[in-house]
Amino acid sequence: MSDIAALLQAVRHRIDQAVTAANRLPGSVQLLAVSKTKPLADVLAAAAAGQVHFGENYVQEGVDKILATASLPLADPLIWHFIGPLQSNKTRLVAEHFAWIHTVDRVRIAERLSAQRPPQLPPLQVCVQVNISGEDSKSGCAPEEAAALCAAVSTLPQLTLRGLMAIPEADDNPEAQRRIFGRMQTIFATIRRQPGIDFATFDTLSMGMTHDLEAAIAEGATLVRVGTGIFGERQYA
Ligand SMILES: *Cc1c(COP(=O)(O)O)cnc(C)c1O
Repeated sequence: MSDIAALLQAVRHRIDQAVTAANRLPGSVQLLAVSKTKPLADVLAAAAAGQVHFGENYVQEGVDKILATASLPLADPLIWHFIGPLQSNKTRLVAEHFAWIHTVDRVRIAERLSAQRPPQLPPLQVCVQVNISGEDSKSGCAPEEAAALCAAVSTLPQLTLRGLMAIPEADDNPEAQRRIFGRMQTIFATIRRQPGIDFATFDTLSMGMTHDLEAAIAEGATLVRVGTGIFGERQYA
């Protein structure tokens, strides 16, 4: 077994344990493998071990990997999620190549993505990013703006609003992690019942990474985004 296959199995085990501990249904949490900065060979190793959903933060790096894997004879075609900050001059590449985006935080970006999504592709699957710990990173809408932004996204023809995403400030205290994730779960549940929101497709709460996935799953995450736990530490040039 490759290192990546073994690490992937260990992460899946952590997820299963956390799901059981939270009395949630088996299979109710999806794993997104975050392959940013990692070579294509690592993506292929994870794919060979059954991983289907991959996340990328940098548009061009992601598009390169999407194109390189598109024609491979894989049992299941890979599903690519854009999870990085997005500037308006890069929306077209995301609209044309990715299946999902987790980082929509303003109406203007959503409108561009909808207009630029090729009509022959299924709608782009969208999570609205919420700046839940109010850190200076500036990514994500304010929690009190999330409902209005979701309502706006849900009217756009080439987008399907799937839920919310958050990247809380790093915190080593599991109780503090859970408090923040719990606030996200409350916002998610409130918006899900809002008129104009499709309850059936607004089903994704994207939160939890390598160091805090247990806390996120305890507070209702349906998708965790794991990089280091699967691919090892990242080296930035
Ligand atoms: C890098 C990244 C991750 C993965 O982080 P790890 O700590 O390596 O698991 C998850 N989500 C986003 C948005 C990221 O940028």
